[in-house]
Amino acid sequence: MLEQDAGPQAHASGENILEVRDLRRHFGGVRAVDGAAFAVRRGTITGLIGPNGAGKSTTVGLMSGFIPPSSGTVLFDGEDVTHWPPHHIARRGLVRTFQLSSEYPKLTVLENLLVAAPGMKGTSPLTGLLGKRHWRASQEVALADARVLLSRFSLADAADAYAGELSGGQKRLLEIMRGLMMQPTALLLDEPFAGVNPSLGLAVERVLADLREEGMTMVLIEHEMGAIERLCDHVIVMALGRVLAEGTMQELRENPEVVEAYLGG
Ligand code: ADP
Ligand code: MG
Repeated sequence: MLEQDAGPQAHASGENILEVRDLRRHFGGVRAVDGAAFAVRRGTITGLIGPNGAGKSTTVGLMSGFIPPSSGTVLFDGEDVTHWPPHHIARRGLVRTFQLSSEYPKLTVLENLLVAAPGMKGTSPLTGLLGKRHWRASQEVALADARVLLSRFSLADAADAYAGELSGGQKRLLEIMRGLMMQPTALLLDEPFAGVNPSLGLAVERVLADLREEGMTMVLIEHEMGAIERLCDHVIVMALGRVLAEGTMQELRENPEVVEAYLGG
């Protein structure tokens, strides 16, 4: 296997909005991510598949700054974001969702969306500087954004329900919506369809396809191959912390290594 050449002149820009190079993260003796390298093209949905424990979630954690890498590089939209804190990376436009939903159960669905919006904390130095009028204006914008998302995800009727009372599937939707409230240019989705019933799942697929039409880049971790097949322009297969293969689903199905490691007979 060739080592990636991560020269200082290199940037993920133009066609590739996101690129990881020789990314590694060890947890004690466990090499969760062990030299992963791939690029994500702007405006595409890229699937990230592989068996449990392959390192997919850790890779998303590394790209989004939630987990510091042991070594390697993460490039996003022309910048090396490798050691940036997660909120800086999110503000720059790269936002992740969590495999286990991260909502506040005792806030309503609408409140969960509002607290996810940038600049809604009320205590940032910027808020103080710009004053109350700016804060109110940004609050109006966040409220309007939240209402649009609620209707887009067919959750308008649940706006005032406590998030903790949502079904498992609805919590997955709220997780995506909370990510979208941050106005990302790229979204890393960790198993967004897990526990979502099939008809709701198809509706969410349509939303993701629409978001791509609007220019959003997405990385989609998913076990359900139907969703991967329908949505993804390109698919990356991880195993043992690195990239085993990549291509279209069709190409991967013809790859004996992939079939043996993951897709099954
Ligand atoms: P996937 O999402 O592909 O199922 P993960 O990235 O969650 O895989 O995990 C990859 C490997 O790293 C697994 O063996 C997992 O047990 C291990 N791992 C992940 N996070 C931690 C952690 N915080 N501490 C110790 N081991 C971890
Ligand atoms: Mg995972």
